Amino acid sequence: MIRFNDIVEEILKYNPQADVDLLERAYVLSAKVHRGTVRLSGEPYLIHPLEVAYMLTKMNLDVPSVVSGLLHDTVEDSYLTIEEIKEYFGPEIAGLVDGVTKISRIEEQSSEESRAETLRKMILAMSKDIRVILIKLADRYHNMETLQFLSPEKQIEIARETLDIYAPIAHRLGIEWIKGDLEDLAFKYIDSAEYKTIRESIAKRKKERDSYISEVKELLKNRLAEFNLKAEISGRAKRLYSIYRKMLQEELALDEISDITAFRVIVGSVKECYEALGYIHALFKPIPGKFKDYIALPKANMYQSLHTAVIGPRGEKIEIQIRTPEMHKISEEGIAAHWKYKEGSVFNPKEDKIFGWLRRVIEWQKELKDSKEFLEIFKIDLFPDEVYVFTPKGDVRELPKGATTVDFAYAIHSELGQRCVGAKVNGKLVPLRTPLQSGDTVEVLTNPTHKPSKDWLKFVVTSKAKTKIRQWIKEEQRGRSIELGRTLIDKELAKHGLSLSKMVKSGELQTLAKEFSFETTDDLFASVGYGLYTALQVLGKVIPEPEKVSRISKIISSIKKSRDDAVKIKGIDGLVVRFARCCNPIPGDTILGFISRGRGLTVHLADCPNVHAYDDQRKIEVSWQDNKEYAYPVKLRVQGGDKKGLLSEVTNVITAGKANILNAQVMTYPDRTATSIFEIEIVNASQLQKIVKSIQKIKEVRSVERMRSSA
Ligand code: MN
Repeated sequence: MIRFNDIVEEILKYNPQADVDLLERAYVLSAKVHRGTVRLSGEPYLIHPLEVAYMLTKMNLDVPSVVSGLLHDTVEDSYLTIEEIKEYFGPEIAGLVDGVTKISRIEEQSSEESRAETLRKMILAMSKDIRVILIKLADRYHNMETLQFLSPEKQIEIARETLDIYAPIAHRLGIEWIKGDLEDLAFKYIDSAEYKTIRESIAKRKKERDSYISEVKELLKNRLAEFNLKAEISGRAKRLYSIYRKMLQEELALDEISDITAFRVIVGSVKECYEALGYIHALFKPIPGKFKDYIALPKANMYQSLHTAVIGPRGEKIEIQIRTPEMHKISEEGIAAHWKYKEGSVFNPKEDKIFGWLRRVIEWQKELKDSKEFLEIFKIDLFPDEVYVFTPKGDVRELPKGATTVDFAYAIHSELGQRCVGAKVNGKLVPLRTPLQSGDTVEVLTNPTHKPSKDWLKFVVTSKAKTKIRQWIKEEQRGRSIELGRTLIDKELAKHGLSLSKMVKSGELQTLAKEFSFETTDDLFASVGYGLYTALQVLGKVIPEPEKVSRISKIISSIKKSRDDAVKIKGIDGLVVRFARCCNPIPGDTILGFISRGRGLTVHLADCPNVHAYDDQRKIEVSWQDNKEYAYPVKLRVQGGDKKGLLSEVTNVITAGKANILNAQVMTYPDRTATSIFEIEIVNASQLQKIVKSIQKIKEVRSVERMRSSA
């Protein structure tokens, strides 16, 4: 329990000239006003203002703030008026108490509407004096700590509001410890089952984690010491709510989250931060794309640090923050760290360049009359890692930064995602991969017969879109495997004068499926299509005697076989059918299929040496189906003299041949020769032949060859 003396002791630590007399008068008045009143916990009410005032000293706030903390509920809960506060304590403190009281009044009537109004009032108060918000944060903090005494409905409502408004404001003001505590306190009520699970699991593995932390600390410390860098290194488990958020965002189970521990390295100067980063990256392999330089580019709340993620000694991901002691102070205390140096002067955010954000918000609240609209705009700015976009009807959707129109479509409805063919952003047609910006209005264009593309996986960022696309590919793959397997079994049976449809009708095939422990005949087909078994393996018992086929009859039968017999290959779809990278067949080439185990059908050139080494049973006849939709990548090696302009001549010829150039590389040699490699998109073999001929006609060209290997 906090006593008045604790508050005095704390404030004198950072403000030896503090007006203790004023504090004492406030304490006496607060005690008098709240006498006889108890909180729902059964404790005397006075405990609450004492806790709030103590918390304000923890934020290193000035005397008027701490006095106002002691008095913050006196007007609200009693007969005392603001006029009287002004009379006893002056206009500054009266203004602070009035600001806090006004916000509290709105809190009483709680609904979606009033939440927006609360926020608006808070911003208004903030614009007058930022200290009102800091007092309000301390007030909410203690109320959250004692939330167990309220009804379950009230608990959830207040916890929600804390997550929606108070924690983000603390974050924006850079007071990370309050933000983190508020989130964890709220989490307990928002999803109590998950809260308990995560907390217990973290506690259970404490010993293991502690030894891991000291192992990594030791490695880091020794490495930095080698270069005479003095560093303070700490490791800790991440906060419960941040683990929970990660689980939700990435749709992971608790035990799938590897990086529950985070490390912090504090060194003497900015220069040393970058040095330490270099040494750490030489010690542990950095994970690409994870380095963030918040020293050069501080966050909106003044936060500065270097962030990196590396592969640790046990092959696990480790997040490391590197900063100076000053940066550390700001990262923990935020505006309060800044505040401390302003003791005695009235904090005016309008004059403070660092708080551009605050100024912006204050401007908005003047401009936006509708509170709901204000809430939305405010939210946009409160979470810089998220984008807020609008549906054509004006509904707001929240998406992670970098989300594309496809993510948006899936966020609205899975069906909309599956069918989307294009999108309009702010009325303009854009490519599906376009990243969205806050404030965009997005309209999704659909086609009822359209299907998702595997390529979408390259740019979508939300788990929902990823999961749904993968799921679709799996189903599609299975569909194709079944189809292919059925064709292969049918062909094998036909060779022996048997009929698949008869086997299905007689139930023979179902029995066969059961023998292979498949539930359905489709599963059996899929296993053949996917290359788990060959058709002959599956049909071994059905086909009476493995016929010995003579070389000659084999040749005859292969001549007799019409091309219609072959499995039709439509195009590159990246699903069951894949094209061998060793020979890159294109339409028009003579091809051969091979069922590779667990990978489905691979198509090779008929004369590809690789395919001849394979098991005959797994080879199948395939042929091209006329289809002009698909283009195939082909690599051409062009050798010739090192003449300027050769590259552009070859390029012109390729373009004239209506082929797309995907990539071009030129290597020149001291003997004045050059080798160029072009990767082009070809529709069929005759188009390729024409292009090759035209290139050969160029004077400087000595040779053109189609590269058969992917190297
Ligand atoms: Mn209060």
